[in-house]
Amino acid sequence: MEKILEVKNICKTYQAENGEIESLRNISFDVNRGEFISIIGPSGCGKSTLLSIIAGLENKTSGEIYINGKIGYMLQKDNLLEWRTIYKNVLLGLEIQKSNTPENRKYVEELLKKYELYEFKDKYPTQLSGGMRQRVALIRTLAIKPSILLLDEAFSALDYQTRLMVTEDIYKILKNENITALMVTHDISEAISMSDRVIVLSHRPATVKKIYSIDFEMENRTPLNCREKPKFSEYFNLMWKQLEEIK
Ligand code: ADP
Ligand code: MG
Repeated sequence: MEKILEVKNICKTYQAENGEIESLRNISFDVNRGEFISIIGPSGCGKSTLLSIIAGLENKTSGEIYINGKIGYMLQKDNLLEWRTIYKNVLLGLEIQKSNTPENRKYVEELLKKYELYEFKDKYPTQLSGGMRQRVALIRTLAIKPSILLLDEAFSALDYQTRLMVTEDIYKILKNENITALMVTHDISEAISMSDRVIVLSHRPATVKKIYSIDFEMENRTPLNCREKPKFSEYFNLMWKQLEEIK
């Protein structure tokens, strides 16, 4: 298996008003090509900090990170620019990295067509539903051809029903395009429904408490259809207990 990301002994301590705070302690894990990995853990334990460090947006205190390729990043807010059309929005990443070439534009247009957004390309973000906006945000990220996609609570701003539909859509797109993903979420069900492995972090300072392998032993697995399997609640109970122990 080809490793896309290696996280080795990451530690993070930051300065607060009343002294140093240790946020992450010796966090290590790997992500292989094509895998979907989730990170869950108590609120405030440092999940977003860890993702920011991996994305290179924040400094680590010690440890090493190896990334094989480019990183794409999706946040809770879709951060679409309201004054730009959908088409102009999805080209943003390419413009920023100065690779708005005919070839890359063709790729983006194909993605828009494939995921039923092409007919909306001249509309503005406010004219789209929350779910469609998230799809646009994803295509904008995929435009730069990342080898790994980082998602930080990317679906938490959506209402429950929309969220189920959007996770289903996003999951299918990621699998179709063969994208490796690392997702932070506080939602155990969301983590189980999408992931090949789930990493459970402890309270601050966050350490890796446990890594669960998820296998529903089914073809054409999607987030919705594995929620119906008996195994789903087994995984849920295991992780729920694990998180309760951490409390
Ligand atoms: P999580 O995403 O798991 O909820 P965060 O990664 O957002 O946790 O971090 C937890 C808390 O640690 C934040 O709410 C913030 O108050 C604090 N924190 C993290 N990094 C810093 C920093 N560099 N300086 C000050 N406070 C920080
Ligand atoms: Mg967070």
